[in-house]
Amino acid sequence: MPGSAEDAISAPADADARRRARPTVAYPVENLPPYDAAFYARARAGMTRVSELVVPPRDARAFVVPTGHIFRIVCVEGPQVGDLNLWNRYDLSERFFSGKTRALHATHVSTGDRLWSTLPYLRPMATITHDTLAWYGFDEDGAGVHDVIGTRCDPYTNLLLGGGIYHHCCHSNLSRALADRRGIAPRQAEPHIHDVLNVFMCTGFTRDRHRYFMKASPARPGDFIEFFAEMELLGALSACPGGDCSATHSSDAAACHPLHVEIYRPADDALAGWQPSAASAYPRTHADGQEQATGPD
Ligand SMILES: [Zn+2]
Repeated sequence: MPGSAEDAISAPADADARRRARPTVAYPVENLPPYDAAFYARARAGMTRVSELVVPPRDARAFVVPTGHIFRIVCVEGPQVGDLNLWNRYDLSERFFSGKTRALHATHVSTGDRLWSTLPYLRPMATITHDTLAWYGFDEDGAGVHDVIGTRCDPYTNLLLGGGIYHHCCHSNLSRALADRRGIAPRQAEPHIHDVLNVFMCTGFTRDRHRYFMKASPARPGDFIEFFAEMELLGALSACPGGDCSATHSSDAAACHPLHVEIYRPADDALAGWQPSAASAYPRTHADGQEQATGPD
């Protein structure tokens, strides 16, 4: 019976020694190609804005970013969280891989980090080239900005937790935006919606039980995060019904603001010698049949 005396777990005699095992960063990220700051600075210098999109509060919009272009998500009227999805424009099965991006970089991302795509591709979809909130770092609560922890607010979890039926969660907004873009029904678009980059959201884990928490976004009008498109992208951005996500989401209770998406074309010669990212070279055989295991020699 749960919680009965027989179930009480006592620590083994060597518990302290076991806890003292040294943490090891899980992936040797020093083996990633280094962030080429000079290249991205060249790409940004002399870039021209070619389009701008307004994402209305509690709604989402989809947009295309050509390969080698730069896009910004801009806070325009007040603190507002944006939930970002990214796909390969020509193959929706290749999409942003929030979990691996977290494992390779950190719980929160900023300038120099990349947004990686799902297996079997596992390539940079976009590189963060500027972040006006980079100063925030991690605060005394352990919170940071732009997380790849949260999943997106959705109507199923809202209903599960007693919030009733609500149609403007980020999951639904993103489904409608992709559906509009592709000329399909939201129900058909829904399976393509995936875990997001939580733009401008300020989140962390509580010290005591490591529970996911949010606090008021520090973003102010004029703040932006900027990305270089390493491949041809289809994006969708939802202006979360939680607004600054200081208190609630999944309802019309919070003050909400629009977000802008700005797309820039780099100067003509800025990309000389540059190539779009290539998909992983792993042969996808998974030791199937007689295939010999191969590895680096
Ligand atoms: Zn949301």
